Amino acid sequence: MLLEPRLVKLTTRTGIEISRTLPNAKKRMIGAWAFADHFGPTVQADGMVVAAHPHTGLQTATWLIEGSIEHRDSLGTIQHINPGQLNLMTAGYGIAHSELSLADANLLHAVQLWIALPDSARDMAPAFQHVEYPPKVMLGANQVCIFAGSLLGKTAETTLFSELVGAEVRIPAGEKITLPVRDDFEHGFLIVQGEARVAEEIGLTGQMMYRQPGTDSFEVTAGSENLIVILLGGRPFEEPIVMWWNFIGRSHGEILEMRRAWNARENRFAEFPDRIGKWTPAPELPNVILRPRK
Ligand code: MN
Repeated sequence: MLLEPRLVKLTTRTGIEISRTLPNAKKRMIGAWAFADHFGPTVQADGMVVAAHPHTGLQTATWLIEGSIEHRDSLGTIQHINPGQLNLMTAGYGIAHSELSLADANLLHAVQLWIALPDSARDMAPAFQHVEYPPKVMLGANQVCIFAGSLLGKTAETTLFSELVGAEVRIPAGEKITLPVRDDFEHGFLIVQGEARVAEEIGLTGQMMYRQPGTDSFEVTAGSENLIVILLGGRPFEEPIVMWWNFIGRSHGEILEMRRAWNARENRFAEFPDRIGKWTPAPELPNVILRPRK
């Protein structure tokens, strides 16, 4: 099944539109992967300037294809991230962060993913992890970089709270790769560059190819240009969640309280200095009761 992206301009971002494949009308989550945003490629003049904003109940995973970003958060973290590295921010009960493209690279090309935290972890203290050298496997001319979970016998040190896999797969034009996967996982192939064929289905840049559980291996073939896909997989996430703006909760009442605490600038989300110097108020809630969705 092909998941089509939609273009979104976020309240927290200026300059660029992003391409979102999760949540999708056809599929809300893949395992605990709850958000998949694809930025660029774009020149840095239209880079990322994301002023301080909060998160709850989720992890953000930032992965760059090109560019360089400065992350700052309310734990006091200041972390530059470059291609091939992972920034993993665990919001838990509450965190605030900002992101700024650095001008020393010409292009920005990135994905930002959200991982829903299960009930057992969602009220934990916030945390931040920078994974500088995620494991890499070369299979012929193909390169697989594992940034979450295990694949091809390698395990990322990324801290997770549910069973997941995440990897960047690079396949030169016309080449193919066979990826053994867990058959109890559902999977998505987010195409960030080029054209991919998985079984008899073709996916284009920006699209995500979805596969339900029940397969223990995929053959992925690149089209006429070098292919980069982000593989996301996990055990289907059984807890119904409520997602609104930058928050993941379990009920309308929880979201209401998260929104109130952020807009009142309470210390659930501590303040921190950055070079952007603004913060992003939460928008008005829609005039409906937010309900959990699976
Ligand atoms: Mn964020």
